[in-house]
Amino acid sequence: MRTIEDLTRKNIRDLAPYKCARDEFQGEARIYLDANESPFNAPYDRYPDPLQKDLKKKISALKKVRESQIMLGVGSDEPIDLIERIFCEPRIDNIVSIAPSYGMYSVEASVNDIEFREVFLDENFAMNADKMLAATDSHTTVMFICSPNNPTGNIIEKTEILRLLNEWDGIVVIDEAYIDFAPEGSSWLTVLDQYEKLIVLQTFSKAWAMAGIRCGMAFANEPIIQLMNKVKYPYNMNQLTQEYVSRQLDKKEEKEEWVKLTISERERVKTELMKQSNVSFVYPSDANFLLVKMDDAKGTYLRLIDEGIIVRNRSNVRLCEGCLRITIGTKEENDELLKAL
Ligand SMILES: *Cc1c(COP(=O)(O)O)cnc(C)c1O
Repeated sequence: MRTIEDLTRKNIRDLAPYKCARDEFQGEARIYLDANESPFNAPYDRYPDPLQKDLKKKISALKKVRESQIMLGVGSDEPIDLIERIFCEPRIDNIVSIAPSYGMYSVEASVNDIEFREVFLDENFAMNADKMLAATDSHTTVMFICSPNNPTGNIIEKTEILRLLNEWDGIVVIDEAYIDFAPEGSSWLTVLDQYEKLIVLQTFSKAWAMAGIRCGMAFANEPIIQLMNKVKYPYNMNQLTQEYVSRQLDKKEEKEEWVKLTISERERVKTELMKQSNVSFVYPSDANFLLVKMDDAKGTYLRLIDEGIIVRNRSNVRLCEGCLRITIGTKEENDELLKAL
C-alpha cells in the first residue's frame, strides 16, 4: 500500500519552502521593519497572513474541522492545480476522473503534462467504482469525483465512493462546490479524520455568492495540508479577500436564505420546464443549475442569446447530447427565461 510520501513527487518531498518575513516572526510587535513594506497606506501596505489564521478559525467552527485541516486557495482552481502538481509526476503518473465533469481537472492536467483518464458515468449519471478502479494502474495517483457533479447536477452514490476510499490507495479528491444545494448529510467532510488520502474541495463561489473575490477551500488531514502550504504562493490569498470572506461568514443566515430561495426556484423552474413541449427531460439536480434535454438545444441556445439570456450549451458533451445547462437565477430572471423558452 502506497503512503502519502510514496505518492508525493520527489522534488516536492525534498522542497525547502520559501520562508517569508511573516513566517519568521509571529506575534505582535510595535514596529515592523522586516518585510520591505511601505509604512504608508495602512492596513493594505502590509503583506497578508500567509496562512489566513483568523479566517480559518471561523471556517473551522463552521465546518467542524481543525484549522490545521484547512487550506485556502484562489478559488478551488488553485487547490486543484496544487494537488496535481504535488502528486503527479509529469509524463509518468496519471489521473482518473469521472466524466463528464468539471473542465479544470483536465485543463490543469494538460498544463502540467499529466495523462488524464476519463471514466464515463452511466446513462443515469451514476458512477461505478469497479470501472474507476479498472481505469487505474500503478501510476494513478489522484482520482477526481465531483459531487454534486457539474454538469450533470447529481450527487454521486455514497456506497461507490466509499468503495474507492476503502479499496484504493491513492489520493481521492471529492469536489463539493455545490454541496450547500444538496440534501443535508451529503458532504464527506464528516469522515475526513478516517481517511488520510481524502481531500474535500468546497468554495465560496456558489452558495456563498462570492465568485468575484476568489476563495476556495481544501480540507484534508495535516500531512496533505502541509504539502499544499509548502507549494502554494506564500501570499496566495490577498488581504481584501480574507477580510471580505470573514465578514460574510458572520452573515450565515443570509446565505442560508439565498440557498433556500435557489432550491425552491430550482424545483419551480424544473416543474415549469417539464410542461414545455420542446423539453424532453429535466435531470434531477442537487445543485444550483438544471441540465435540460430539449429539441434543438443549439438553436434554442442561440435564440436565447438574441433575447439577452445566456445559458450553457452542453449539447456537444458526451452523455449530455441535446442538453443545456441552466443556472438558477432570481425569480424574475427565471420567469424571463421560461417566457423566452
Ligand atoms: C464552479 C465550480 C468550482 C468553483 O471554482 P472556484 O475556483 O472556487 O470558483 C469548483 N468545482 C466545480 C465542479 C465547479 O463547478
